[in-house]
Amino acid sequence: MQSVVGARVALEAELRQGLMRSELFLHYQPQVAGDGGLTGAEALVRWRHPVRGTVSPAEFIALAEETGLILPLGHWVLQTACVQLAQWADRPERAHLSIAVNVSARQFHSPDFVDQVLALLDHTGANPKLLKLELTESLLVSNVDDVIAKMSLLKAKGVGFSLDDFGTGYSSLSYLKRLPLDQLKIDRGFVSNILTDPNDAAIAKMVVALAQTLGLEVVAEGVESEAQRDLLARQGCHVYQGYLFSPPVTIEAFEAFADVVGVA
Ligand code: C2E
Ligand code: MG
Ligand code: MG
Repeated sequence: MQSVVGARVALEAELRQGLMRSELFLHYQPQVAGDGGLTGAEALVRWRHPVRGTVSPAEFIALAEETGLILPLGHWVLQTACVQLAQWADRPERAHLSIAVNVSARQFHSPDFVDQVLALLDHTGANPKLLKLELTESLLVSNVDDVIAKMSLLKAKGVGFSLDDFGTGYSSLSYLKRLPLDQLKIDRGFVSNILTDPNDAAIAKMVVALAQTLGLEVVAEGVESEAQRDLLARQGCHVYQGYLFSPPVTIEAFEAFADVVGVA
C-alpha cells in the first residue's frame, strides 16, 4: 500500500517536471476513409521519460486527471494540435486534414475550457472546422446541461465533437439525442471481437445504425484486419482507425503516410 502510494507521488512529481521540461510529445494515428484516403488524425499524447523511455498515456492520464495536471497537459495537447493544423493549412495537400484531440472530463468541466479553446484557435489561426474534440461518456455523468451549453458554444465556432469509446460507458440514449455531436467512435473492444463474437458484431451494427439515424458520422477504432474492415463496411461504417492502416506515429511519419495514401 505504502509503496503504491509512494510510486504515485513520485510519478506525479516526475510528470509535473516532465511537463515543464517538454518531455511530452504527440503521436498521430491516421483516420482513413473507405476509399483508402486519409481524413485526418487522432492526436495521442506520449511521455518521453528520461529513464523509462516512452511512457503510454494509459500509465499517466488517470493520474493527471486526479492531480489536476490534466489541465496544463490538456492545454498543451490542444495547443500543439492547433499549431499543427495551422501549419497544414499552408499546404494544399494537407489543408483538409482534421485532428481529433482527446479531452478528459475534468478538463472539459473546468470553467475556462471554452475560452481556452477559442483563444488557442484565435492565436494559432487553426481552422475550427478541422479540430474535433473527443469526449467520453464519463463526461455525461454530471451536469449534462452544462456540457451541452459548452459544446454548443464551441460548435457555433465550427469545432466538431466525437463520442469516444462509444458503448463502454453509461450514456443514456436521451442525452445522445440532445448533445450537439458530429461523430460516434465504435470502441476498439467491440471491433476486436467483431468476427468471432456475434454480440460484439451486433453492437457494432447497432452503433452504426444509431449514428445513421441521428445523422452522425461513425468511425471504428482498433481496426486490425481487412476482414474486420470489410465487415464494418458491410455494416455501413466507412471511416476507420487502427493498426491495419497505421499505429500512432510521429508527425514526420504521419506526413510521409499522408504523402503515400493521399487525402480522402
Ligand atoms: P483512445 O482515445 O480511445 O485512443 C485509442 C487507443 O487505441 C490509442 O491508445 C491507440 O494507440 C490504440 N489503438 C489504435 N488502433 C489500435 C489497434 O488497431 N489495435 C490496438 N490494440 N490498439 C489500437 P493510446 O495511444 O495508448 O491511448 C490510450 C488512451 O489514452 C486513449 O484512448 C485516450 O483515452 C487517452 N489519451 C491519449 N492521449 C490523450 C490526451 O492527449 N488527452 C487525454 N485526456 N487522454 C488521452
Ligand atoms: Mg480517442
Ligand atoms: Mg477510443
